[in-house]
Amino acid sequence: MQEMDKALTDFIRISAAYLGIAEDAEGVTAVESVTGTESGTDLPLAYVIAEDAEVYADTAESVITAISANSAITLSSLSSAISTCRACRLCETRTLAVPGDGVENPLVMVVGEGPGADEDRTGRPFVGRAGQLLDKMLASIGLSREKNCFIANMVKCRPPGNRNPSQDEIEACFPYLQKQIELLKPKIILCAGKISAQRLFDSSLGMSAIRGNFSEYDTGIDGTSPIPLLATYHPSAVLRDESLKRPAWEDLKMLRSKLEEMGLNFGLL
Ligand code: URA
Repeated sequence: MQEMDKALTDFIRISAAYLGIAEDAEGVTAVESVTGTESGTDLPLAYVIAEDAEVYADTAESVITAISANSAITLSSLSSAISTCRACRLCETRTLAVPGDGVENPLVMVVGEGPGADEDRTGRPFVGRAGQLLDKMLASIGLSREKNCFIANMVKCRPPGNRNPSQDEIEACFPYLQKQIELLKPKIILCAGKISAQRLFDSSLGMSAIRGNFSEYDTGIDGTSPIPLLATYHPSAVLRDESLKRPAWEDLKMLRSKLEEMGLNFGLL
């Protein structure tokens, strides 16, 4: 199977070079790490993604470069660009893209997984049942999107049927999140759920192993300090499993203590 994948990715690379899309089509390089089969078909996933790479030759990087060309990029110009993004297949099925919601220079930036049905309809993150719980969880330590938080997702468009975003969708969208972090300069990043925790902690472990300790998110930008990073259970998981309420509360207390330690406890409980 591995040999077949390699032969296939070689074929894709050569074809891409022939078609002149190798230089800027991120999806073509992404295929190297993608194996497995597309559900419902026996097509290797790499093949399906490489097909997408031609269709979605617009990348988040090229969108960001384009909007930065004439004036300094702002959160609002980034959000507008995200709203019309066509960098991956999720643009085909979304109603509205969901760039994010909250204040600039937040104490906490929460990063979820991806929009669900309510978010897709309204264009706002975490507005359904899970969102209402997230708001309550944040409020329990004096945080809110109106006052001191920004809420975003790993992918800005709804994965159909609320499936998890695939790895190539996460990577296609990641530059938007990076740019949001750069512009927002949050004091702490809180990952809500495994999808964002694994990507931002750069870990393949499960939530119970990732949560419970602070790590750091390195922005990769010269002269900026790494941002403290914490993970907790996704509010949907807490809704499904009552036993996660206690550890999620422990995580929130850790978050509050960290803000206090950093001298940022004003207005908090
Ligand atoms: N779940 C998420 O991860 N994000 C949302 O915006 C809504 C539900």
